[in-house]
Amino acid sequence: MLHNEPSPLETRLLTGLFTLPDCASLDTYLAHGGYAAFEKALQMKPEEIIEEVKVSNLRGRGGAGFPTGMKWSFVPRNSPKPKYIVVNADEGEPGTCKDRILMEFGPHQLLEGMMIAGLAVNAQAGYIYIRGEYRYLIEILDRAIEEAGRRGYLGKNIRGSHFSFDVYTHTGAGAYECGEESALLESLEGKRGVPRIRPPFPAVVGAFQCPTVLNNVETFCAVPAIIRDGGAAFAALGTPKNGGTRLFCLSGHIARPGVYELPMGFNLLRMIHEVGGGIPGGKKLKSVIPGGSSCPVLKAEECDLPMDYDSLARAKSMLGSGGVVIMNEDTCMVRVAARIMRFYAHESCGWCIPCREGTTWLRKILTRFHGGMGSQSDIGMIGELARNMLGRTFCPLGDAAALPTISIVEKFREEFEAHADGQPCPYEKAGQLATA
Ligand code: SF4
Repeated sequence: MLHNEPSPLETRLLTGLFTLPDCASLDTYLAHGGYAAFEKALQMKPEEIIEEVKVSNLRGRGGAGFPTGMKWSFVPRNSPKPKYIVVNADEGEPGTCKDRILMEFGPHQLLEGMMIAGLAVNAQAGYIYIRGEYRYLIEILDRAIEEAGRRGYLGKNIRGSHFSFDVYTHTGAGAYECGEESALLESLEGKRGVPRIRPPFPAVVGAFQCPTVLNNVETFCAVPAIIRDGGAAFAALGTPKNGGTRLFCLSGHIARPGVYELPMGFNLLRMIHEVGGGIPGGKKLKSVIPGGSSCPVLKAEECDLPMDYDSLARAKSMLGSGGVVIMNEDTCMVRVAARIMRFYAHESCGWCIPCREGTTWLRKILTRFHGGMGSQSDIGMIGELARNMLGRTFCPLGDAAALPTISIVEKFREEFEAHADGQPCPYEKAGQLATA
């Protein structure tokens, strides 16, 4: 049984097998064409694999949206050092729960994507860095790794070829910061998970100071389909420069919450009303976080747009990690801002001052504000504090905390005014809690 009922509007390229019984097993995967893309890649030159990925317009699904083929091409071919494949499975962005579906129901698809990446850059080992809260998935992944090794799909001279590849799982301890690629590598090496100064980027100096391909779970899972069907076919599913499908996680005030695989560029309003079944109780849409809590919010009237990286950037937001949080007309946006900041203040690793102090002060001010203890002059200070964090931190967490705050203050200023100077939260009687 899948996480939610599939929608007829889905294009289930990565999730097509997930309703089959025992879909995580090697036998089920092989019976439906599993590892055929890897066998095909074995006959290709590394540069041909990378070119196919470039043609596909696959962009990193973790949030940044960097072109995957280009990232792989940065790995120095003539380096004498070993190369590594690292999967970022530290899915911790609030509103996002897609990677866990991919790992739970299709672990072999992930392994196959890693192996093809290994062929492309001549790597012989891969690591799946998985968040601590996903401990139950480690058993599933370890079982798949053991099964693949026993049946000759991992290990030495795979399928009688020259190619050898091993995969290991590694668990984090639940720090959001370790989803940042360089902090993830520090943690993988057994150190405190704080970011590295870049450049050099992981493609050149990554895991254990060696060239490394580091991508999100969903990115690797898309690779077998690209090699199997060709990069052009994958690109054609989406919009220009935004190839393929995307797993969107619908949550919040939505009739049918769940993870849906839709073509890149699918219209956001259609996603809410036709895929997600609309907003319960006949309520109106107020706002949407389109790609996880670090993205600037959209007002209802801004939501008639294609969900791809470039369209969201034009709307001054981000596609992010695919976590679409829908909020109805009864939602207190001051409370939303305070709740988001509580998360970031808790998760700030404390390495740099603008993030450590900025998130702490913003959490205090926003929580106080929601409790009616803010003044009109505080409203400008919230925006100014958040803007002072932008671009001044070691890693993107500072921006991730600042951007949604800035957008909420700018787009819903009247709600802040309605809370100021001792006024009670106007939404409490609509069922909102007073605390953030
Ligand atoms: Fe740590 Fe925040 Fe600085 Fe990132 S921005 S390094 S999370 S203190």
